[in-house]
Amino acid sequence: MGGFFFGVRSIPKARAKTRAWTRAAAGGIIRPAMPAPAFLRDMSFKYGELTPVAPGLRRMVLPNPGPFTHYGTGVYVVGEGHVAVIDPGPDAPAFTHGLRAALAGETVEAILVTHTHRDHSPGAAVLKRETGAPTYGFGPHGSGPRQTASLWPDQTSDAAGQVEEGADSDFTPDRALRDGDTVTGTGWALTAVHTPGHTSNHLCYAEPNSGALFTGDHVMGWSTTVVSPPDGDMTDYMASLQKLIERDDTIFYPTHGPPITEPKQFTTDLLAHRRGREAQIVDCLRSGRNDIDSIVGEIYVDVPHNLHQAAARSVLSHLAKLVQDRRVSPAADGDGDRFFALS
Ligand SMILES: [Zn+2]
Repeated sequence: MGGFFFGVRSIPKARAKTRAWTRAAAGGIIRPAMPAPAFLRDMSFKYGELTPVAPGLRRMVLPNPGPFTHYGTGVYVVGEGHVAVIDPGPDAPAFTHGLRAALAGETVEAILVTHTHRDHSPGAAVLKRETGAPTYGFGPHGSGPRQTASLWPDQTSDAAGQVEEGADSDFTPDRALRDGDTVTGTGWALTAVHTPGHTSNHLCYAEPNSGALFTGDHVMGWSTTVVSPPDGDMTDYMASLQKLIERDDTIFYPTHGPPITEPKQFTTDLLAHRRGREAQIVDCLRSGRNDIDSIVGEIYVDVPHNLHQAAARSVLSHLAKLVQDRRVSPAADGDGDRFFALS
C-alpha cells in the first residue's frame, strides 16, 4: 500500500510553485532553530598530486569538481609499496593513468569501492586493467537491502541522477564484502562497515590500527549527504549514522572534502540535523502544508533555489521514513496529486 504515491513523477513540478512557497514562508509557521554540524569546507591540495595526509596514507584529489563532488573525488591510497586504493573515481582513463604514474614502482594489491556512484567506482575497471588488482565492494548498484523498499514500485527510477552523481550500473566487485569482512594486504588491512542510506550498497572502510574510517559519501565534512529514493533510504541512513556514533573511530576521511577530526560529535550533530528536519516536516503536516512542494518552500526557505530539487528528494526520503514508521500516510486528491497526512 502506498507504493503508487511514491512514484517520482511529480517532483519536477516543484519549480512551478515557487511563488506559493514564498507566500507560505512569509506567512510561515515559527520554525525551531535547526541544529546543524559545523561544516568543514577548506582543504589544501593540488589536483592530480598524490599527497601524504597521515603515516601510511596518501590522497589524490581528481579534477572533477561539481555541486555534488565539492572539489572533486578524493582517492585514498593506504599503505606504502604494497597498497590498497579506495574509490578510484570516474571513468576517466587520464585520471587513472595519473594515479598509476604516481604509484610507479609500487604494487596495487586491492581496489576498494565505497559505493556505485559515477564519481567513485567506474575508475575501478580501468585501474584493474592496468594493475590486475581485484576489486572489492558490497555488490552491484541497488544490491543492498532497503528498509523502505516496499514503498517504491519502480526500483529502476533514475530520478536520483538529477540531484546527485548518477549510478554506475557496470560495477560488480570481484569479491563481495559484508559488514565486518576484512581485506588484508602487505602491511595494511581494511574492514568493511556496511552503511546503507546514501546508497543501499554503501560501505565505509575502517583501518583498525590508526582508527581511521574512510566514509565515502556517508559522512562528509563539507555538506549533508543526498539521500534520494528509491536506492537512497532515510531509515537506513539515520541508522547508519547511529552505527558510526557507536563506533570509536578517531578520524573520518570522506571522499569529498577535508578529514573530520571529531567524528563522534560531527556525526551526532548530523543525526540531530536529520531529526530536526523530520520534526519540521511533521510540523508542516500538522499546519496543513501537506505536499512536498509546500514543505520544501517552508523548511528550505534559506536554501538556494537551484538546490530545491535535491531538497525535494530529501523531503521525499524523510516522508518515506515517516510512512515506514507509521506516523504518516500517503494519499492523493482527485487529480492524482500526492499529499501526506499524519496518521
Ligand atoms: Zn555518492
